[in-house]
Amino acid sequence: MVISPLDLSFDRDHLWHPYTSLSDPLPTYAVESASGCRLRLSDGRELVDGMASWWCAVHGYNVPELNRAATEQLGKMSHVMFGGLTHAPAIELGKRLVEITPAGLDRVFLADSGSVSVEVAMKMAVQYQHALGHPNRATFLTLRGGYHGDTTGPMSVCDPVTGMHHLFAGFLPQHQFYDRPPGGIGVPVEEAYVSGLEDFFAAHADRAAAFIIEPLVQGAGGMHFYDPAYLDVFRRLCDEYGLLLIYDEIATGFGRTGELFVGARPTAVPDILTVGKALTGGYLTLAATLCTEAVAQIIGRGSAGVMMHGPTFMGNPLACAVAVASIDLLLAGPWQARVARISELMTLHLRAAAESPLVKEVRVLGAIGVVELHEAVDQAAIQAYFVERGVWIRPFGRLVYLMPPYVITEADLELLCRVVVNYILASPPENYPT
Ligand code: PMP
Repeated sequence: MVISPLDLSFDRDHLWHPYTSLSDPLPTYAVESASGCRLRLSDGRELVDGMASWWCAVHGYNVPELNRAATEQLGKMSHVMFGGLTHAPAIELGKRLVEITPAGLDRVFLADSGSVSVEVAMKMAVQYQHALGHPNRATFLTLRGGYHGDTTGPMSVCDPVTGMHHLFAGFLPQHQFYDRPPGGIGVPVEEAYVSGLEDFFAAHADRAAAFIIEPLVQGAGGMHFYDPAYLDVFRRLCDEYGLLLIYDEIATGFGRTGELFVGARPTAVPDILTVGKALTGGYLTLAATLCTEAVAQIIGRGSAGVMMHGPTFMGNPLACAVAVASIDLLLAGPWQARVARISELMTLHLRAAAESPLVKEVRVLGAIGVVELHEAVDQAAIQAYFVERGVWIRPFGRLVYLMPPYVITEADLELLCRVVVNYILASPPENYPT
């Protein structure tokens, strides 16, 4: 399929793109194919991928092992319903997820996207409380600055400001928000924060089913990092007040932070965990919600007797087969060393950006590199600048960030960092904040 200028105008006039103005859309770039860590545009230009397609493509693109898994599965069946039927790809994926996620998360619900897996996690928590005789415990406690997806349940626990809760007032259920933990990785737990959080739990826990958070890294809500010691505080408070602890590891899962899952910290294992994005290596949409046996048993004893969710494409065999291949490929390779090296190189090469008065902070964790500016970037200008220099980086707001495929070469990673730093250092002084 070749894209003509006419097609691009059809795209502009008829297709919604994520968070893109209808009246004054920024240019979209047509991709013809992608391979390794390169996106090939329809005009022949090649871009080094700095985004892993929003955390997903950890192995890069057009990966022989994943292509093979998809092709083999296509020859058998791409889909069958999961009600009353099962199949090897779902069972094999279930085995792997139980094995590689934190201990005790033994029950797996296969959902069709990250947002749906969060919906499922929230419904699990409500059904759990209901089954325990607490039908009034149906709200959620969460942190400001979070992001959990765009369907109604997840949106209601996204940051109220960036999630534009005012726009959906009357539509979104009301939940309780507390400040995100201060500092960053390695910054000791702040006593004043903890005592405020204790008061918050004391005030709202009796109506809450669970505390839902992104552990360690708040992604689309601002790319903030916080120290893992806060997870112990969250676990303690949830236990004290009878709340379930839900970790949304849709972004952080499968090694992105340097750990396979952040929730593996033995002192702060969650009751419910959501994973998605890199689950299929970015090939197909699939996510999963895992919970402990105890949570599942209690849900089973409730009035419904079943989990009240069952999407059409639950356990899609094609997606499951690719997910199995993706997990096997990840675990067979030196992912930890790769992520550690990416971390080292981004720390080294992005550091120069911190010298600019435009920059508030440069921070790196695992294979996530963030340059936070004082002011929002000019999206159109920066996007064009990056594409002209052969890289695909998609900043949002005040954040220019990199989360490349783990298989990126050192030369490509250096190029990504260099282009970011050059853009920032070349910005004229009139752009500096006053
Ligand atoms: N949770 C987190 C932490 C995410 O980063 C995202 C996606 N950006 C989601 C949930 C929603 O996933 P999806 O877009 O697949 O619905």
